[in-house]
Amino acid sequence: MNSIGRYISDFASLVFPKICHACGTSLAQSETHFCTTCIHQLPYTNFHLQPDNKLAKQFWGRVKVASAIAYLYFTKGGKVQNIMHQLKYNKQPQLGVALGKMYGEELKKNQLYQQAEAIIPVPLHPSKLKKRGYNQSETFANGLSEVLGIPVLSGILYRESQKDSQTMQSRSHRFDNMEKVFKANTQTIELNNVLLVDDTITTGATLEACIIALQDVGITQINIIGIAYTE
Ligand SMILES: [Zn+2]
Repeated sequence: MNSIGRYISDFASLVFPKICHACGTSLAQSETHFCTTCIHQLPYTNFHLQPDNKLAKQFWGRVKVASAIAYLYFTKGGKVQNIMHQLKYNKQPQLGVALGKMYGEELKKNQLYQQAEAIIPVPLHPSKLKKRGYNQSETFANGLSEVLGIPVLSGILYRESQKDSQTMQSRSHRFDNMEKVFKANTQTIELNNVLLVDDTITTGATLEACIIALQDVGITQINIIGIAYTE
């Protein structure tokens, strides 16, 4: 960097200091997205090392999945809540890419994830996509893709129609509606093994509806990957 470039960069960091997306402290020159302390202390699930983890068990008896994992534990008021807030509401798509690359580095050691043919993000509702400008699950998928070398196919899965506001309905009723919201289209490509990517996984109802839509078009091996998991 020339001296003028360095001057501008130093000036920018004075005016807009880079902060850790997890704890809010100022970052050192060598740090990006997260401080070193947070990198060491984030609540990693290590689900990718436990095939029968809590998230995978949540799908037992409901839908068949090849595997189900999430990178981090989400707790209210915790660091992961800060991260997800930055990613979803603070125009930080590059944060999703960074998280995808970090998790990808862990997952590339495992044959299970290397065998997938495509990465499919859970689609965001069009009105939210318009407001946010990007699908946070897709940014995470892009980061995974960079490291794993598996393409992101975001057009395969889509929302068919939006039902009435679902927030006031009971969980079971909500699921009945959601099942019909997602559709999949694989007319131009043959897929058997995919990574289905979501942001924060809670009840798994959205994912369950996506899984059914993907199974309807003949995809048999579905691996769930979330950024975060909350019990
Ligand atoms: Zn931090």
